[in-house]
Amino acid sequence: MECLFCGIASGSVPAKLISETPKSLAFLDIHPRALGHALVVPKGHYQNILELPTDLIGDFFRDVQLVTELISKTIQPDGFTIGINQNLVAGQEVDHLHVHIIPRFKGDNGGSVQGVVSNHPNDSLDEVMKKIKNLN
Ligand code: 5GP
Ligand code: ZN
Repeated sequence: MECLFCGIASGSVPAKLISETPKSLAFLDIHPRALGHALVVPKGHYQNILELPTDLIGDFFRDVQLVTELISKTIQPDGFTIGINQNLVAGQEVDHLHVHIIPRFKGDNGGSVQGVVSNHPNDSLDEVMKKIKNLN
């Protein structure tokens, strides 16, 4: 079965397109969490940011910026939550890289990105630094 967002990119699945560049497109999320909730996807099928070829990253995030700018001017929210759910454990339901652009409004009762989990580590920050930098 074809990937849903590949289907939108090829035009075989309808979507409310906001903008399109040679390598990416932006469209409204079908189940908006806020007015103007948009998704930006690369046209090519890459499951996540690790798979996105390095030479596409700049243009892709430029498109994220342009769509945020457009929604900022037109919908005029008070802020944004912009993020990626990577892998099932993090809530990724569509296995095609997409950046959520979620307008935020005063009093919307939403939280912050870091508030999605409270799995506080027992390791000290120095221990984490050693792990990340692979030091002994
Ligand atoms: P995820 O949890 O994978 O980060 O988010 C996938 C998003 O895709 C969800 O917010 C969901 O509402 C949206 N979505 C699912 N199916 C469709 C669809 O057919 N069209 C559009 N425009 N959005 C979809
Ligand atoms: Zn795909």
